[in-house]
Amino acid sequence: MKKLSVGIDIGGTRTKIGIVDADGNVCANAIIAMAAYPRESDYPAYVDKLCSEIQRLLALQEEDYEVVGIGMGAPMANYNNCTIDNPGNLWTPDNVSEQHSRIFPIAKDILARYENEPKLRGTKIVVTNDANAAAIGEMVYGGAKGMKNFVVVTLGTGVGGGIVLNGGLINGHRGFGGELGHIVVQHEGRQCGCGLRGCIEPYASATGIVRTVTNWLNDTDEPSILRNIDPEKIESKDISDAALAGDAMALRAYEYTGELLGKCLANILPILDPEAIFITGGLAKAGNLILAPTEKAMRESLLRIYGDVKLSLSQINDDNAAVRGASALVW
Ligand SMILES: [Zn+2]
Repeated sequence: MKKLSVGIDIGGTRTKIGIVDADGNVCANAIIAMAAYPRESDYPAYVDKLCSEIQRLLALQEEDYEVVGIGMGAPMANYNNCTIDNPGNLWTPDNVSEQHSRIFPIAKDILARYENEPKLRGTKIVVTNDANAAAIGEMVYGGAKGMKNFVVVTLGTGVGGGIVLNGGLINGHRGFGGELGHIVVQHEGRQCGCGLRGCIEPYASATGIVRTVTNWLNDTDEPSILRNIDPEKIESKDISDAALAGDAMALRAYEYTGELLGKCLANILPILDPEAIFITGGLAKAGNLILAPTEKAMRESLLRIYGDVKLSLSQINDDNAAVRGASALVW
């Protein structure tokens, strides 16, 4: 019988669901727009929708199948408890002024809805943060196949890390191991969403490079084709388009970002001693534009004994990467 896993990637804008086979092929997928479920009181309806979409996708399968489990990547996911704890941009309190702890027991809630479904009753559910899911995806389907020690760095809206050492994911004492985005790289630097200043996240994220370019556009008269875009609407894709067209400011933005990121990565080598580091996420879509300056800075800053560490783009960096990574959690 064909074995299938369900991968779920919960993000601030959308939830992606994929039915994935043992080779990492996505057999069917669906998207749920989170705008339909913005409030805490919408959460039960969201779980209903999630469960019915999974069943709809499984019903499309022509061959007989067995579900090995459901893997889920989500912000503020608590691996130990299978919950999502106080997510900043999901299911906000109905009364915004009301401060209380919001713990969403998503695995338990899904299982409760599948009590009478023979194929899904009691199925294994694993919940972890999206960077950890990306690391497992890289190990099962991507460039880290066969590796026991590596790091995946996600450069999306924020910066995250998934660390695998001795073949296992590092979750840490509190379940927050691998939060590489909050390594401080600039003394008195940019304000980070976490409350600290100078973390790598507000520089080397997709939003960070936009901030870099916007600052330069505001502070200088340097010509750039990015001046043709409303400064409020510049996205990281516009910067890579401009760089590919030879725009000097856009190219320099990648060099600046890569230099900070590369030095930051050089600093994690003595702690983790990985065989390889993979970068993924929105900013990594710029490919060599970000990889080359990051690699240069990392090589210039590293201790010689780590000289053969590999730095590369994720090999599952497509639109389904997060879903495939999440699905890999249950194999
Ligand atoms: Zn931070």
